[in-house]
Amino acid sequence: MNNLEDIIENQRTFFKSQQTKNIAHRLKLLKALKLEIESQEQAILDALKKDLKKSEFESYISEVGLVLSELNLVLKNLKKWGKPKRIKSSLLTFPSKDYIYKAPYGNTLIIAPWNYPFLLAMEPLIMAISAGNTVVLKPSELTKHTSKIITKIVEAVFSKSHAISIEGGVDLSTKLLKRKWDFIFFTGSTEVGKIVAKAAASFLTPVVLELGGKSPCIIDDTVDLKLIARRLVWGKLLNGGQTCIAPDYLIVKSIIKEKLIEVLKTEITKRYSDHPEKSPDFPRIINKNNTQRLSMLLEGANIIFGGDINIDNCYISPTLVDEPRLDSPIMQEEIFGPILPILSYDTEKDIERIISNSDTPLALYVFSKNQMFAENTINTYSFGGGVVNDLLIHFGNHRLPFGGVGSSGMGRYHGKFGFDTFTHEKGIMKRGITTDPSFRYPPYSGKLNLLKKIFKWLG
Ligand code: NAD
Repeated sequence: MNNLEDIIENQRTFFKSQQTKNIAHRLKLLKALKLEIESQEQAILDALKKDLKKSEFESYISEVGLVLSELNLVLKNLKKWGKPKRIKSSLLTFPSKDYIYKAPYGNTLIIAPWNYPFLLAMEPLIMAISAGNTVVLKPSELTKHTSKIITKIVEAVFSKSHAISIEGGVDLSTKLLKRKWDFIFFTGSTEVGKIVAKAAASFLTPVVLELGGKSPCIIDDTVDLKLIARRLVWGKLLNGGQTCIAPDYLIVKSIIKEKLIEVLKTEITKRYSDHPEKSPDFPRIINKNNTQRLSMLLEGANIIFGGDINIDNCYISPTLVDEPRLDSPIMQEEIFGPILPILSYDTEKDIERIISNSDTPLALYVFSKNQMFAENTINTYSFGGGVVNDLLIHFGNHRLPFGGVGSSGMGRYHGKFGFDTFTHEKGIMKRGITTDPSFRYPPYSGKLNLLKKIFKWLG
């Protein structure tokens, strides 16, 4: 069954057979998936090391651990989530019992990126399956070792007509996007997100786009510099800065900027030594093309720390850039690497000018002890989600929806939000048949005033 058309046709037939709708069956498969991931844990960590030179600690905390905890959550709650939900009836339609039925969309397509290649392929897969869909998953072509292990795991657990991982690059994606799907879940760049949205629109297929952008981090002068330096260096350099919600650049109150730069330099050296290229904990850039792209972003920039580049080894050292111009390349595109521009502000107008230089970010961070300032910042700007006084960790609470807005994406997932995203909610009313007041039936003469009173009364 290698032909794409056959695979898709088989998944269509399988979905129509109703087998994916059996919640006990979904649970059985998800349990098997958990066991398979656990038994392949070392192979997954090894693959991530080969692809991204990630440490096992980082791979576990940001990929394997998150996937397993999402699986545990689904295993615990799926029966409850999948049940029809009784809701309050309306007096207008009395007598009735009203429900929301949870229906899968059907045949889904998931396209994953390379930066957290295991997590960002497996989490949507888990949610799609838990909601009762079939899945064609295309992992990233840039992380060959991880994609291989993903394919192996999916193959070990699911029949091909239920879920399959197909490896390939842009050609494969393009072919897949020409087919009709009932739902598409895409994680990747804003540029490719537009291609996916266009393809989905031609079939009116609902689509979730988990994209990127330039996420700002605002720091006022009330902060504890040592604490925030620790959090900043961790949040920026995790995965070598190749994190969709990494702080792209800092906007720092000008009177503390110099002090902050000094503590950042000390903190980077403390965590990764004077030779980050030798640190087992500092990942590499995904490939030479991206290393080259990053090195070009640094051309003409005022580098105040780091700036060491080895394109052949896909290495860029942790780098600080002082006050880049807003029209310079580094402030025009998502950085997606270990380079941190530092801009300063004096007034809130300065902050606004800097943030409005880019499209809607996926994340926004504010470090401040001034609650009013933090609250005002959250309410003033449009962004996907964020954290006050830390970075990235909103991703780790499955009770928070995760997703972008505007150019950083549409739709959301994580935890129950993920199940809901892959579910069509059918509104179902079950009408009583013992009474049937004649009020709604013609002739209507003399009934309008009473109708108006009823609507007024219902509020
Ligand atoms: P990408 O858009 O280049 O690729 C993502 C996927 O799309 C890959 O599987 C790739 O094969 C496929 N693809 C690439 N070009 C295509 C085309 N022309 N037509 C159809 N499919 C195509 O993104 P990437 O480089 O893998 O990932 C980095 C980007 O993803 C960054 O912008 C980052 O911010 C974003 N991202 C977002 C999230 C999120 O949760 N919002 C998570 C991770 C990464």
